[in-house]
Amino acid sequence: LKSLLKDPSLLATQAYIDGQWVDGDNGTFEVINPARGDVVAEVADLSRAQVAGAIDAAYRAQKDWASWTGKERAAVLRKWYDLIMENADDLATILTAEMGKPLAEAKGEIVYGASFIEFFGEEAKRIYGETIPGHQRDKRITVMKQPIGVAASITPWNFPNAMITRKAAPALAAGCAFVARPAEETPLSATALAVLADRAGLPAGVLNVLPSTSSSEVGKEFCENFKVRKLTFTGSTEVGRILLRQAADQVMKCSMELGGNAPFIVFDDADLDAAVEGAMMCKFRNNGQTCVCANRIYVQAGVYDAFAEKLKIAVEKLTLGDGLDEGVTTGPLINQGAIDKVLEHLGDVTEKGATILTGGRQSNLGANFFEPTVVTGVTQAMKVAKEETFGPLAPLFKFEDVDEVIEMANDTIFGLAAYFYAKDLSRVYKVAEALEYGIVGVNTGIISTEVAPFGGVKQSGLGREGSHHGIEDYLEMKYVCMAV
Ligand code: ADP
Repeated sequence: LKSLLKDPSLLATQAYIDGQWVDGDNGTFEVINPARGDVVAEVADLSRAQVAGAIDAAYRAQKDWASWTGKERAAVLRKWYDLIMENADDLATILTAEMGKPLAEAKGEIVYGASFIEFFGEEAKRIYGETIPGHQRDKRITVMKQPIGVAASITPWNFPNAMITRKAAPALAAGCAFVARPAEETPLSATALAVLADRAGLPAGVLNVLPSTSSSEVGKEFCENFKVRKLTFTGSTEVGRILLRQAADQVMKCSMELGGNAPFIVFDDADLDAAVEGAMMCKFRNNGQTCVCANRIYVQAGVYDAFAEKLKIAVEKLTLGDGLDEGVTTGPLINQGAIDKVLEHLGDVTEKGATILTGGRQSNLGANFFEPTVVTGVTQAMKVAKEETFGPLAPLFKFEDVDEVIEMANDTIFGLAAYFYAKDLSRVYKVAEALEYGIVGVNTGIISTEVAPFGGVKQSGLGREGSHHGIEDYLEMKYVCMAV
């Protein structure tokens, strides 16, 4: 991998604690390239005690960091952003090597991830409080916003860069210090971010990157250590529930970006070509491995066959392969577990009567490759109606009317993203209001941006990332009542 990088020093295999690069007390662990199956790097495996040490460092650094002016914090974050953009090609190469997504998509993630650092750096100057007219003649009321303190993050492998910047950027902008435990599949994108943060002049201890295979031990340290005041997590609802329970003992503030089960609805008045294009981006981006990927595609009866045929043609144009190779649109899945989940859902739908329109098999390119797949005749009785596939399986459900599809779309414990394609304005409003989701895409399959509040309702999570709302997750409100 080093030989592919313009700046090989971006490949950092140690942990970053208190401005130092350190080895792991538990030795090292292997990072595997999911396309080729070979070892990309051996990375420091931290013990719980080392994680506690990093929290101490963050705790010490935070007070001073919080005393910087917003403009001063903004300047360092801007420098970090610039360095990420300058090194975007290398960061994308590292990302693809450890995670598998095609290079162009990895580059897109680096730019997207960096946008949060740019945006929240700017927001650092705008952490406004409030004055409220007093309730008595001699009373003056001020509301100030202050950083929560040390924030700890646990993030997944599907966006090894952006899931960290989405959390670190608002935290640092707010004046919090940050300890990040990246997914063990993809620690190199996180350590590379630390290399650049260090170069940007972020003070020692303000950002710490802590690779470790002992995820549950690290999770416990984050929840039980009194010096941590905020936990921010992206991952499955199952692990989110565990962390929320653990965090309850300290009544710790939590932000949770959890699972989704996104419906993608195509009404009979939709622009079908646009709907197919949206479905392709929404379903097959990152090979179906995002929490906002369409999991259930509902198509109104009148356009069902036409949509299915167009989708099939578009899917057959995808090129499966090693993300580092030219012209590849679709990489491998992350590991065998991901393949198993696709096979389980596919087996379930075909057993219960659905038809494979295209794909449906593991590819001979390598163990983690699966053909992009479309199935028709899917119903609410099948597993995919309730569970996230997190893979390249597009199941097409048929519906007749608006009320029916809204009921089906909302029939889930999840509520992250939903999408629909329609032109009739009153229908657009009615459906947008009725969908029980934190994010709704209307006539678009791509909704992620740093300027909008991303987050779920129901069991998809707590809190929002992005937009001016996103920084609130890292701020406390203090009300000062003064008698004059
Ligand atoms: P995914 O399927 O996307 O990996 P998970 O929820 O299983 O979703 O994992 C998300 C992140 O949480 C990963 O970095 C994983 O290592 C970590 N993790 C898993 N279990 C725990 C736990 N009990 N405590 C803390 N972190 C955990």
